[in-house]
Amino acid sequence: MSANEGRTPAAGRPVVFRNGLVLTMDDARTVLPRADVLVVDDRIAAVGVGLDVPEGTWEIDAAGGIVMPGMIDTHRHMWQTAMRGYGADWTLTQYFVWYYLESGKLFRPEDVHAGNLLAAIEAIDAGVTTTVDWSHGLQTPQHADAAVDALEAVPGRFVLAYGNLQQGPWEWATTPGFRDFVTRRIHGRGDRLGFQMAFDVTGDPAFPERAAFEVARDLGVPVTTHAGVWGATNDDGIRLMHEHGFMTESTVYVHAATLNRDSYHRIAATGGSVSVSTESEQSAGQGYPPTWQLRQHDIPVSLSMDTSVWWSGDLFSAMRATLSADRSREHLEAHGRQETVTHCHLRAEQVVEWATRGGARALGLDHLVGALTPGRRADVVLIKNDRSPVMFPILHPYGHVVFQAQRGDVHTVLVDGRVVKHEHRLVDVDLAAARAAVERTVEHLTGTMGVDAWEKGMNPDVPETAVLDNPYTYTEWDAGSAQWKH
Ligand SMILES: [Zn+2]
Repeated sequence: MSANEGRTPAAGRPVVFRNGLVLTMDDARTVLPRADVLVVDDRIAAVGVGLDVPEGTWEIDAAGGIVMPGMIDTHRHMWQTAMRGYGADWTLTQYFVWYYLESGKLFRPEDVHAGNLLAAIEAIDAGVTTTVDWSHGLQTPQHADAAVDALEAVPGRFVLAYGNLQQGPWEWATTPGFRDFVTRRIHGRGDRLGFQMAFDVTGDPAFPERAAFEVARDLGVPVTTHAGVWGATNDDGIRLMHEHGFMTESTVYVHAATLNRDSYHRIAATGGSVSVSTESEQSAGQGYPPTWQLRQHDIPVSLSMDTSVWWSGDLFSAMRATLSADRSREHLEAHGRQETVTHCHLRAEQVVEWATRGGARALGLDHLVGALTPGRRADVVLIKNDRSPVMFPILHPYGHVVFQAQRGDVHTVLVDGRVVKHEHRLVDVDLAAARAAVERTVEHLTGTMGVDAWEKGMNPDVPETAVLDNPYTYTEWDAGSAQWKH
């Protein structure tokens, strides 16, 4: 008997959220202050006040809470969650050295499985009902099988973005093993498992990536690519993709933080979207989080958390960081012109839209998820926490989601109409098994690398500090006696 038996509805039973503050994220951005959301089977059946519901409907009291669409993360290296927090003090350069050059090849299929499993559980726990698994640790088809096994073991919605950082995309994408994998594991799997191809375009004038783009075109699958990453990918990559006709409206450009106007024009003109990972761009160094520029070019935005080797996988962090970074840049630019920003251009409402509808559009899923409208799949989140002093008053609902709420306030989550979290507890998820698997991966890595290399990888050297150019520091305060000099 599961711990939640009797506390969650049996499969197939309708569910209604009662008297919640409903952010529908529909085209009109309708907000209903005290309304119900009815879910029948896998769909939103109705949204409104005082709904009549079928007999036997399971009622969830949403009073005092916010009901919103499940959030969507469009770029997350889920396999890296087995290394949670390891790279907290890394730069992007140190990340590249660790994963691409030194240790990424140590990950076995079971290690990819372990990271994916934990990341998938983390996603649904945080109300992230759709996650793109930017899976560039797939050294063999067995690794890919392991990645999908994990995604299918967790009742979330996922998109496998297939990649392999140990090879050029023109190598892995053209193998029979890759084709065979797509046929075996992706085709006909329904809309809880989508597919993309994930690779970067280096800017080599010979454009070797062409072969991989042709495979994507042949398979009819979107490409997601790290673009505009300081020191790694740049405007040449965008230009080559464009000149060869491979920029499409389904292309997702991750980061797009160090690009010139010409590249933004090419992205805008071809209808693609940008997945912004603000916390990542701020900390790792891909470039300044680009929403302040993307808005000027009218380029669609979705949000992402990139990797738990630095950051956790919840979109409250993404929304908060993104709104703050955008405003920070506007103020900074204005101050440079001796001006004052008196009105915020980017609003909390827009950022919530990016975290929900923006992700759905980027993934071609806008007809299915991203909004609470009748007929869409029931991916629903209730933010409610009666024990929290931060859950009232709710005056500005979008602002509350972005600046007040956090993952611990995620009360109930539905994916495809199924209750996967209720009353702050995951339903039918074996967290202990996920923990044991991740522990085995950490053991394998420390054992293979040796403890010294493991510790050194986690704690990069701090360069010698230069003497600060500040005459006051050293003339007025005597650090030795901890007294002011007179
Ligand atoms: Zn990434």
